[in-house]
Amino acid sequence: MEILVLGSGAGGGFPQWNCNCPNCSNYRKGVGKFTARTQSSIAISCNGEDWLLFNTSPDMLQQISQNPEMQPRDRGVRDTPIRAILYIDSQLDHTTGLLMLREGCPHVVYSTEMAHQDLTEGFPIFELLKSWNGGINHRTLGVDGEAFEIPELPGLRLRVWDVDGKAPPYSPHRFDQHRGDNIAVQIEDIESGGKLFYAPGLNSVDDRLKAIMRDSDCLMVDGTFWTNDEMQRFGLGTKMAADMGHLPQTGKDGMIEVLAEFETQRKVLIHINNSNPILNEESPERAELDSLDIEVAYDGMKVSL
Ligand SMILES: [Zn+2]
Ligand SMILES: [Zn+2]
Repeated sequence: MEILVLGSGAGGGFPQWNCNCPNCSNYRKGVGKFTARTQSSIAISCNGEDWLLFNTSPDMLQQISQNPEMQPRDRGVRDTPIRAILYIDSQLDHTTGLLMLREGCPHVVYSTEMAHQDLTEGFPIFELLKSWNGGINHRTLGVDGEAFEIPELPGLRLRVWDVDGKAPPYSPHRFDQHRGDNIAVQIEDIESGGKLFYAPGLNSVDDRLKAIMRDSDCLMVDGTFWTNDEMQRFGLGTKMAADMGHLPQTGKDGMIEVLAEFETQRKVLIHINNSNPILNEESPERAELDSLDIEVAYDGMKVSL
């Protein structure tokens, strides 16, 4: 299967439109070595023609125009290779782009019950879209790791687990964590046997998740923050990474420590916040990741498994 990174940035993307943190400001001044990033989304296909889209970022239309794989084939006057959409959670930076895909309704959409609640109540995007050909055809994701297949995308086998995270700031249950607010997904190519572990937002990694990661060939995981106090450090906010449901790379039990346990897996950080010093390709933080064989996802990155 082919994994295509459509957007490797966290909320706001990089550079963020109103941000003067050292990264965003240096990017605009042309100081240092940086690459712009759109907001978080990947797509997966077994045959290069039919794609499963993970999240619909606010940058969806830009991502489609930047990636011919996502563009119409010659099959009809209206066409898309996007066969189904799967939501990792209900965050605005992962869902808003569905509004831009309204002309393609009805879409096949997978989410947990908790994300479905958010997307029909707190941010009722599923309700709004009902005026376009009925909107979406929703299918509920279980969170106990049971294997399932998507009829529109033969050749892929998926398993989903709830992870420690946070519901979005707008959610009626932001401070009242539920199973299924955030998920990790393992996607397997049934023919090649290749397995991707995808968890772009998680607050901690327990033994249950580690066993799943050991059973995967590529780990594409939360790369939002370098330090727990990154937002405070740059004067961007008062919240700690943990308050926002993200495990920072550094510190005790941080992502670097977690990933050190996995020797044979390809390791990729994704959902990088614009404040994260690893975005500067010439930074010591980036050199540290290079020395540990941890990659930093970029828009347009392709992984074959
Ligand atoms: Zn996000
Ligand atoms: Zn910034």
